[in-house]
Amino acid sequence: MKRILTRNMSPEELEAYKKGRKQYLHYTYLYDKIFGIVDWSKYKQAAIERAKRIRLEVLVHYSNSDKPFCVCCNESNMEFLCIDHIDGNGNEHRRHINNSKFTSGGAPFYSWLIKNKYPKGYQVLCFNCNNSKAHYGYCPHKKAQEEIEQASIKLYEATYVKE
Ligand SMILES: [Zn+2]
Ligand SMILES: [Zn+2]
Repeated sequence: MKRILTRNMSPEELEAYKKGRKQYLHYTYLYDKIFGIVDWSKYKQAAIERAKRIRLEVLVHYSNSDKPFCVCCNESNMEFLCIDHIDGNGNEHRRHINNSKFTSGGAPFYSWLIKNKYPKGYQVLCFNCNNSKAHYGYCPHKKAQEEIEQASIKLYEATYVKE
């Protein structure tokens, strides 16, 4: 850093320098106060914890179990689970509730469900099953399940039902 030699300054320059320095110190003080002393990471962590708690509460409710799980494939890692609008497009519904705020299905959507006393018509799915349902209209798990059922019915009929 270049040293500033105040003794070479004219009185006006010195005045401006002192004023500037005072302001500079004032702002660095404020900066420290806001970004240095206050530990924002603590607040951020608290917000994350709160969102987690709310999510768990909602998932527990719609799973009707202390350990939430995907109603389609039984996935029970909370990180993979989400709330699915049983009939129809969840995104559209969320958009309908509150324009853009709910489209991501994030924290505001979970809070909304709690505030509205857990409206009916929702279930817990994992993101895989939820995505498949949204994009293809069905989940391969269900399809596989149906195929197994169909096959076992056929087998049963072939074995026990005589014409
Ligand atoms: Zn699933
Ligand atoms: Zn599935």
